[in-house]
Parts: sequence; C-alpha cells; structure tokens
Amino acid sequence: MSKETVARALRQARSALILSHLNPDGDAVGSALGLMWALRQRGALARVVLADPVPPNLLFLPGAEEVERQVPPEGADIVVVLDSSSPDHVGEPFAEATARSNLVVNIDHHPTNGAFGDVNWIAPAYPAVAQMIYHLLPSLGVQPDEATATCLLTGLVTDTNGFSTPTTDSNLLRDAAELMDAGAPLPDIIQQAYLNRSLTQVRLWAQALQTLQWEDGIVWAVNTPEMRRAVGASERDSSDLSTFLLTIREARIAASFTLLDDGRVKVSLRAKPGYNVAEVAAQLGGGGHPPAAGATLDMPLEQAVQTVISALKAQVAATTPHAQLQLS
Ligand code: AMP
Ligand code: MN
Ligand code: MN
Repeated sequence: MSKETVARALRQARSALILSHLNPDGDAVGSALGLMWALRQRGALARVVLADPVPPNLLFLPGAEEVERQVPPEGADIVVVLDSSSPDHVGEPFAEATARSNLVVNIDHHPTNGAFGDVNWIAPAYPAVAQMIYHLLPSLGVQPDEATATCLLTGLVTDTNGFSTPTTDSNLLRDAAELMDAGAPLPDIIQQAYLNRSLTQVRLWAQALQTLQWEDGIVWAVNTPEMRRAVGASERDSSDLSTFLLTIREARIAASFTLLDDGRVKVSLRAKPGYNVAEVAAQLGGGGHPPAAGATLDMPLEQAVQTVISALKAQVAATTPHAQLQLS
C-alpha cells in the first residue's frame, strides 16, 4: 500500500481525526495541523488530537489553539496517524479514536513503523512526515494556503535539525521554497520553532552538563528529578540536550539520559553522519532514525548508562572508517 491508497482514503473521508505522537515535536504538530488545514480546504471536518500539550515553541502555528487532548465522542470516518511508529507512541487517544472510526490511515517515515493501519504509507527516505503531507496535496486537489504552508515548513525545519541532516537534499529545499512562495515565513519559523528555548531549560542543561563525559567519540550527560526540581524544570526540558551535545566537535555520537519521575530512564541518541543510532535504539527496545533515535529503559540509571554506552561503543567500532565523518 502506498501514497495513492492513502490519498484515496483521505479523499473519501468526510471527517477525520488526526493523531500524532506523545511529547509532540515540530513534525508531529506541523504535519498534523498542515493536514488538518488541507482537509478543511476540501470541505471535510478535520480535528487534531494529541495526548500531550503542544509545546510552547510550537504555539505560534496556525490552529495550535484548536488541538484537543480528548477524542470527541462522535468520532470520525477515518483516523489518520502521523509520525508515530506504533500505537503506543500515540498514547491513549489511539484506542479511543480507532474505536470511534471505520479506518486507520498510517503515514510515517520511521523505519521501525509496524504498519499498524488499515492503510499505510511508510516512507523512511522522507526526512519529515510534513514533506509526505506536502506531496499528498496534489492528489487531494489542494493548493497550500499560508496556514498549511507554515505548518508543513515547520515540520521540514525541525525534523532536519534546521536543514542540517544528511537527508537534506535539493528536493527538500525546492519544497521548502515552494512553501515559502505559498506564504510560509521561514526566518520566523526558525526563530519560533527552533531558536527558542526557556531559561529553565538552559538551567537544567547547566545542571546536566556537570555530568558530561566523553569516551571513544561518545559524549553523554545525565539529568535527574533532583536536578529538575532544583531549577523548576520538567522532564520535557531535557528533550534537546542530546542534539546540543552532538554539536561538540569530538562527538561522533551523543546520548542524554533522563531519569524519569517514575524511575525509568529515557535515552535520547544523536549521531553524526555515517553513524547509526537507530540500530542501537532498536536493540534496546526503542526506535527512531539513523541520526536520531531513543528508547525508554526499565532499569537503574547506572545500569542504563553502562548498557547504552557499551552498545554505542560497539556501534562506533563496527562502523567502517570510510563511512565515518572526518573529525579533526
Ligand atoms: P528523542 O530523542 O526522544 O527526540 O527521539 C528521537 C527519535 O527517536 C524520534 O524519531 C522518536 O520518535 C524516536 N524514539 C524515541 N524514543 C523512542 C521509543 N521509545 N520507541 C520508538 N521510537 C523512539
Ligand atoms: Mn516526531
Ligand atoms: Mn518526523
């Protein structure tokens, strides 16, 4: 099943509930709201339901204030699940929404996606689900308006880490330029969605960076509930730390370990081009993409750090030198 099957299902629906993953990022919220505006242009009823709130840096997106936390009792013709590798990744709304609709449409770019929909379009070559939605618009007979374009361009910016991942190619930039022509304000999107963090978050980073370690090209840091309490931060404030750690010149792979309030350990992995952290995350029961992946481990913090770091060392050792980024 493919893009055309998905497009047909979207064309036939008079109403749609659009879902995406827990702790939504720019691609989750951007692709969901972009599809919502596109379906509304067609005259369909479309609503976005997310288990967790839209983060502050994405509240500027047109329609962000309409995102709901609960599945409406009336349901919809179809449920569209975006950017989520499994029903677990969506959280509670998945079961409630699918119980109140006839068809599940699954659109994703995670290679670990289990094709859990009735209709699936899984395309790991796409850097962002927002780009997949953009490529569906012609089959839906929709020209992107300013709202749609702004939401979709935000997904492109955030999932490519500001157009810096190896998946950023000239086709993506052409799509980005077309979205700008349709009214999406790129510099504004980058400022709002990407170059925008709270003082509290950076204070948490300051705490976590006290634990910074570097071995064999792997950089890592830990944050705990005590650190978060000390600065008034939440678990979510640790979200970008691994991306920041990867900017260290000596880092081939970066990992951040968040000791969650429930005692489990959330591991967030990032890799320079040529390294693959998706394989390590999958071994640990998680998932993701080669340059960005994660897992949540049910074990003590020390054990989690040891387990993950030794798996990452094996990954670095197994990566062939020609594939490695030349690091000075
Ligand atoms: P994060 O480090 O949480 O920003 O996640 C990076 C990437 O890995 C995203 O594409 C996530 O969807 C994916 N990911 C993180 N944790 C998990 C998990 N427990 N299971 C599957 N995928 C995950
Ligand atoms: Mn995402
Ligand atoms: Mn994505």
